[in-house]
Amino acid sequence: MAASEHAPNILIVTIDAVRRDHCSLYGYERPTTPHMERIAERGTVFENAIADSGWTAATVGSLFTGLCAGEHGVDPEHSLPEGIPTVAERLRDTGYHTAGFSTNPMASPLFGHGRGFDHFWYWERWSARTRLGAPLRYLGTRLGLSDMGGADMLKALSKHVRSCPKPVFGYVHFNEAHSPYGSVRAYERMFLARNTSWRDVRDIARKTGHIRIYDFGETATDEEIELVKALYDASICYQDMLLGKLVAFLHQHAPNTVVIVTADHGEAFAEEQAFGHNFCLEETQIRVPLVMAGQDIAAGEQVNTLVQTRDIAQTVCAIAGAEQLAETVAQRIDLREASGAERKYAYALRTAMSEEKAAEHREKLTSFDVDEHNRLTTCIRSDRFKLTRKAGAGTVLQDVASHPLGGPDCTSDHPVLAAEMQRSLSQWEQAQLSRQTDASSDVQIDDPLVKERLRGLGYMA
Ligand SMILES: [Zn+2]
Repeated sequence: MAASEHAPNILIVTIDAVRRDHCSLYGYERPTTPHMERIAERGTVFENAIADSGWTAATVGSLFTGLCAGEHGVDPEHSLPEGIPTVAERLRDTGYHTAGFSTNPMASPLFGHGRGFDHFWYWERWSARTRLGAPLRYLGTRLGLSDMGGADMLKALSKHVRSCPKPVFGYVHFNEAHSPYGSVRAYERMFLARNTSWRDVRDIARKTGHIRIYDFGETATDEEIELVKALYDASICYQDMLLGKLVAFLHQHAPNTVVIVTADHGEAFAEEQAFGHNFCLEETQIRVPLVMAGQDIAAGEQVNTLVQTRDIAQTVCAIAGAEQLAETVAQRIDLREASGAERKYAYALRTAMSEEKAAEHREKLTSFDVDEHNRLTTCIRSDRFKLTRKAGAGTVLQDVASHPLGGPDCTSDHPVLAAEMQRSLSQWEQAQLSRQTDASSDVQIDDPLVKERLRGLGYMA
């Protein structure tokens, strides 16, 4: 089937681990996202976008299938089951050329995310090409002289998109704001306190590399957390500059492009229990930026409806005129019609890591209580309240309208509401379990460079 000649190019950009409230697009005091703001000026900003999980492989799974995390079953140990249709497959069937680019192996063919892409550039392939260069690049990253692969990824993208057939469906996954915290040095200077020494900065990168980040979260001082935030913000700002370059490239070489920018999840700095990501569904993790522009997307609009990142899948298929995705147990909406849509609840789920993985973490971590944190966690969220359930630890109700970062348990103030949300959450959990396919396969990672990359990002012990 040939795509209509008027079909726009479509690009989804995910910026790893970028939480909503650290984007100046949403009023953050540091100017971290000027280029995202530019996209917003000519497009639509979503004020209440909720990620479907708290870790990359799962949320990218939802982004590509339109399914809840428990329905597709992807997590850091399981890849996307064959047979679940993906956005890339649907668009390829419609006549789109499909191309993915990622610097995080957790968003790559390793987890089945490459299905449906004619071309997928990802870090592992890039590093394999430069095996000798990889350790040097890694050192460069640690010294703040180079980024996490984003600049190279953009070069690969521009080379590919200049010559590939149109219309093109593109996916880009940036990883610059991911731990270990550090940034490109020129950007660090924008947000660091004057008296911060180079040694302090490199100390933080060392302490937050690998799974050490979880021990660091238990022991970090207020000064260290402030430094982490400044480095994180600098990374967001650097990454936003790359986004600006990407958009400028599109204006020139693929002007008829719908651009959708979001994050796979956020990042916590000990606001509640968590530090980093992976272990919870706190507000710092699930509230993400979301902005889209191009073609007939309303310009200068601000949407307050609760939306989820898996809605992007449905929206992209609708824009392309492609067949829709597999049915889901929860509501899914076309983001172009979100302002008039009613959504009572958003949901998210984080599976527990296997006993084998937990044991590896236990062995290597001294301060972080792996068993306390490693629980199946689900949450249900309205525009005002959030109910979180941790396996073996009951539920907590929070008034997130009054306490944007979470706040105290208010179950006793709202017992009827809490019971209603518990029921709805249980129904959603059950519906997913009954649908869950067990066809997903365990992820086998053999390449030592990929293992090192995943360890460096704190995904493997
Ligand atoms: Zn991520």
